[in-house]
Parts: sequence; structure tokens; C-alpha cells
Amino acid sequence: MEDKIYTSYPPLLNPAQKEFLVATIKNWATQNGLLVRPAPTFVPKEVDPSGVLATNAPVTLFPSPFPKSCFDEAKALQTVYNRLYAAITCNEEWIGKIMEDLIDVDDFISHLWKVHLSVKKEGYSQTLSLGLYRSDYMVHAPSSSTTASLKQVEFNTISSSFGGLSSLVTSLHTELLTAPPGHSITYPSHPLFNSNTPPENPAVESLSAGLAAAHNAYGPSKATPALPTCILFLVQENERNTFDQLALSRQLTTVHKIPVFRLLSSEILDHTSIPNSNPSRPLIYSPPHAPDTQFEVTTAYLRCFYAPSDYKSERDWEARTHLERSAAIKCPTVLNQLSGCKVVQQVLAETTGPDHLASFLSDTDPATVARIRETFAPQYDLSSSGRGRDLALNVETAMNHVLKPQREGGGNNIYKEAIPDFLRSIPESEWKRWILMELIRPPPGAKNVALRTDGEVLSGDVISELGVYGTILWDQADGKISHNEQGGWLLRTKSKDVNEGGVATGFSSLDSILLY
Ligand code: ADP
Ligand code: MG
Repeated sequence: MEDKIYTSYPPLLNPAQKEFLVATIKNWATQNGLLVRPAPTFVPKEVDPSGVLATNAPVTLFPSPFPKSCFDEAKALQTVYNRLYAAITCNEEWIGKIMEDLIDVDDFISHLWKVHLSVKKEGYSQTLSLGLYRSDYMVHAPSSSTTASLKQVEFNTISSSFGGLSSLVTSLHTELLTAPPGHSITYPSHPLFNSNTPPENPAVESLSAGLAAAHNAYGPSKATPALPTCILFLVQENERNTFDQLALSRQLTTVHKIPVFRLLSSEILDHTSIPNSNPSRPLIYSPPHAPDTQFEVTTAYLRCFYAPSDYKSERDWEARTHLERSAAIKCPTVLNQLSGCKVVQQVLAETTGPDHLASFLSDTDPATVARIRETFAPQYDLSSSGRGRDLALNVETAMNHVLKPQREGGGNNIYKEAIPDFLRSIPESEWKRWILMELIRPPPGAKNVALRTDGEVLSGDVISELGVYGTILWDQADGKISHNEQGGWLLRTKSKDVNEGGVATGFSSLDSILLY
């Protein structure tokens, strides 16, 4: 089936058709906010000193075919994955054990763990915890004779991005597919296009509903006198993916009628405070544009603080601690962020020793637990007793693997033949910072065309990565879940010759799906 689809997909465009389609998409992107801020390498600061310009997000010209069985399975498992990561986050002792080894060698993880310990010592003032997750997968089909299966690339517990722009790409491709016949030559005909449109993509609705659920669960103001409440988006300096975030805040203000503010992570200590005299520790926000007004933050949504570069000095760690000890519901808490470490995914995937997955999902039927386990690709630690070390140091076996550190945001992995030399170039004591993962092999032969942010149009062999969004609100004190939803998805497509992924990192383009 795959082969048949790929040999003729996407349909060929002659130069005039291509030019017309690209022009249509460029205009659509601007008209509908499918945009990013341009990279300084494309539009230097001197050209746009006041930062008024935006450009189309990187986007494929066509939706990519994706096996329906894999798509349905990813969606069906999402609320189970949500529960799994809430359960892990509730088990502080288990996370602590896993972090023990890392703390000696990984400064970033060690810092995060210290933030948790210091707030724990004082006592957390908020037990509710919000997760806006994205579980990332590839289709594994190493040869045309094997059935395609769904394998997880990673599970994101912090700053899971692109829900806003992804739903726009779904709209763009749907509009192109459903243009009235004769009206447009935008897409040449193809059997896969016949009354086929991408599945619905309610990513904005579902992610916003998760934030709204936390806001509503916070309850009345804890401040004296009582204050109006709001949600606060904490964001990075020089963020280029602003419009993706604004899609969520607009939904919150227009549909849920919740005030939303954006604050740079570097300004948290300047514009928020926790009154010393109030044991509930409400997080009070004074907007810089209206310093006499005050709001109480119900939910602190982090689109920052996931990478070491977000913490430029001790003051940034103070800001993270300040948020963590406040009564605002964190999305995510430090513990929930740590539960998303690659090493946690590696430990869950272990096939010998204690069955951690089954114990975290003890209230789930074994068949469903087995389906979750089916999504794991083989992963190893690099301890002297394990298999991982042998696989990583031998070039032949390393070729089938990727080496990952405990980092988020792309650009951190070591791939294939580079693994043995890389490991030998660092002290052996640091090897425990890394996990080794077998490569997922997407079906060969997929092709697409991408319009990049600088206007370049690239065609060729591609690999796609599916992300499925999930939201969960639970109580850390007793594990009780009050909201658990799956909603929306993301398809990112990159050139087959590139190891890394990521849209923000410049490797992938946003895409949508035609199910087959
Ligand atoms: P990050 O947290 O940096 O996003 P990921 O685990 O998602 O880390 O890895 C980055 C990219 O590397 C992925 O988007 C994917 O393209 C590629 N990658 C990661 N793991 C695998 C794997 N097991 N098989 C194939 N490609 C992978
Ligand atoms: Mg990733």
C-alpha cells in the first residue's frame, strides 16, 4: 500500500503550477497568521530594528500520507500516556532515584532538582499540577514487507509547542484540497485527494481548555483584599514562535473569557511578587503597562525554562524557584518537567528488571499497558554492566542508534557513526548523562515539497514525525485526576538526509495528514 502511494505522491507540479501554489500559500500564511518572526540570519536587526516583520512558518506544500492505524493508535493512547506521566510525577522518590546518577554530572538537572528540594522543604503551597503534553512518534516500517507500527520518539512535558500553528496548516491544506473544481489549479489531481481531507485538528481548543481547567480549578483569589485572576504565559527573550503561543491566549481570552498576560522569564522577579504575610503564597502580577493594577496568577504556563540557556544567571534560578513556591498552578512543575527526561523514557522501556510501566499504570488493563509498551523503541543506559555501551562503541551497531542527553528543544543529539568517537572524546564518568536509542525507520519513498521561512522551496525524500497533544490536571497530594483529554496533533516533516528534527531549530516544516 505504502509503495503505491509514494511512487506517485505528491503529484508533480510544472513550474507555473509550483509558482502559483507557493504564492497562494505565502498569502494564505500571512492572511491567517501562519507566521514566525524571521531569523536574524534572514532579516538582520539593521533591516528591521523595531521588529515589525514576520514571515510564513516553514510549511509543506502538500499534506503527507500517514497510516490511519498508527494515527488512531497514537490518539487512543494519549490519555493513558497523560495518566502515566501524572503518576510518575506523583512518585517523587522514584524520580529522585533516577536523578541521583545525573545530579553528579549534569548541572542543569542538578539545579532543577535543587529547586524542587528547596520548595519541598518549605512545603508546596499548590498541589494541583497541569500537564500540556505532546507525545512524538514516527512510523516504523524498516522494509516494505513489515507492517507499519507506531514508535515514540520522545514525550514532551514542558513547552510542548506548535499546537497553534499546526491547526492552521491543517486548515490551509484542507482549503487547498476542497477548492471548488475548475476554480483553482492549486493542486493537480491525485487519487489520494479524492474526497479526502486531513482529520480534524482541535489543538488550540484542547490546549486552551486544559489551561482553562486549571484556571477554574484554582478557585477564588487567595489574596487580601481579593484580586482579579489571570493566566500568565512565561516566555523566552527573542522568541520567534510568538504566533503559535498567541493562538492559545486568544482562545483563552475570547472563548473562555480569561485574562492572559505574557511575561519574559527574565522579568518575572520585576513584575510578580508573593506577599510575605500571606501563607497561601498567591503570585501577584503587576502588568508593566499598568503598574497600579494587580492580578493573581492562577496558572503559570511555561514556554521557557526548558533549556540551560534560559537560565543566564542565578537570578533566573531564583525566578524559577519563586514560581515553584507560589500558589499558581504550574504547567509544568519542576517534578513534571523532570519526569519528561529522556532517561525516564529509557527506564520505562527497559525489558529486564522491575516493570515500572505496569506499576505506574496498575489501574489500567494489561492489554492497554501492552499497547503503550509497543510504542517504545529499544533504549539503553551506558552503564558498564549494560548492553548500551557495547552497541554505542561499535561503529556497526552505533549506525542504528541515536545518543540523547537530558535536554529539550532540539540540536542536542549525536547520531549513528558519530557516536563511538563522541563518547571516547568525553570522560567516561559523563556517559551516564546520555541514553542510547535505536533508530526508528520510517517507510522509505515518502516525498514532499517545503516552503521555508526565507522563501526557499525544497523538494525531496522526507521523514515525518507525528505529535499528539494531551492535557491533564491532577492533584499531587492524592493523584486524583480532574481533567484528562486528548486533542489535536502536529505533523512535522524534514528531509530524509537530516538526522535532527524540530521546526524551531530550522530542520522541519509544519505539515498535515492524509490518512490511508
Ligand atoms: P528533542 O528533545 O531535542 O526534541 P528528540 O528526542 O525529539 O529530542 O530528538 C530530536 C530529533 O531527532 C527528533 O525530532 C527526530 O527527528 C530525531 N530522533 C530522535 N530519536 C530518534 C529515533 N529513535 N529514531 C529516529 N530519529 C530520532
Ligand atoms: Mg523532539
